[in-house]
Amino acid sequence: MSSLVSNKTGCLSVVATPIGNLQDISARALAVLRQVDRVMAEDTRRTRALLQHFAINRPLLALHEHNEDKMSATVLPYLLAGEHLALVTDAGTPLISDPGYPLVRACRAAGVDVTPIPGPSALISALSVSGLPTDRFYFAGFPPRKSLARRDWLAQLAGQTATLVFYEASHRILACLDDMVEILGAQRQATCARELTKLHETILNGELGSLSGQLSGQIKGEFVLVVAGADAPVLPDEAELDHHLVTLMAELPLKQAVSLTAKLLGLKRNQVYQRALQCQHHFAGSSQS
Ligand code: SAM
Repeated sequence: MSSLVSNKTGCLSVVATPIGNLQDISARALAVLRQVDRVMAEDTRRTRALLQHFAINRPLLALHEHNEDKMSATVLPYLLAGEHLALVTDAGTPLISDPGYPLVRACRAAGVDVTPIPGPSALISALSVSGLPTDRFYFAGFPPRKSLARRDWLAQLAGQTATLVFYEASHRILACLDDMVEILGAQRQATCARELTKLHETILNGELGSLSGQLSGQIKGEFVLVVAGADAPVLPDEAELDHHLVTLMAELPLKQAVSLTAKLLGLKRNQVYQRALQCQHHFAGSSQS
């Protein structure tokens, strides 16, 4: 049983590994990897190479997207018997667009401790240098591969006011940027972070519409796209809104009154609709009393 954990069953450590620069491994990650009973790895060859670099030799088990349900059931008894296991993926933080969710869920359900060994993640690294607001962000992961599905998916994100973060593969980066320009608008501020922490790290900033051109053929490697959220919806002047709504609702059906008010005041229909419902309740209440 590990000296880093003090529980009667076992413990799963979710260990972040470098996203390119081996010096980014933490001292704690190395200590845990040295002492666990086994390491669950997305690709055992890659993890063996990483461990060898740091002169670590632990038994490895493969846990990847194609076997993770089965493997989670296989290793749970080890944990329940008191073993300390580490979960790592090829790069960055496990479970972040990476395998591990079924295992962590199974551990939680079985009462096995799960502890993070934090470290690199491409999403946080890109966000932290983007110059875009970081107080609220929406990690959207990988966009759908086909353009039609990707456009629909982007359309659903178009109103999101938090900063948007995407992962994308190199062979789709240009097509994805084209769709983003079309659906989210060319003017949004954005950052394209390529090969973070590696020799050819490139961080491009500017309007979304300028990024393809700025990439100028540098489309090899790994990418994170960070895109400004939508502008916050314009807040209506309540007195003006109510005046229009009440006047029109007295003459027209609710839907028409809402549409017309939205048009006249340049507001979103659902914004006006919410208020119209409140007005309706108010009138219904006052006519009963
Ligand atoms: N779990 C990882 C993490 O915490 O960042 C992400 C794994 S996901 C399968 C791989 C994707 O992350 C890549 O396709 C790319 O979008 C992004 N990524 C990983 N390393 C990167 C790097 N060094 N620079 C830019 N993006 C990177």
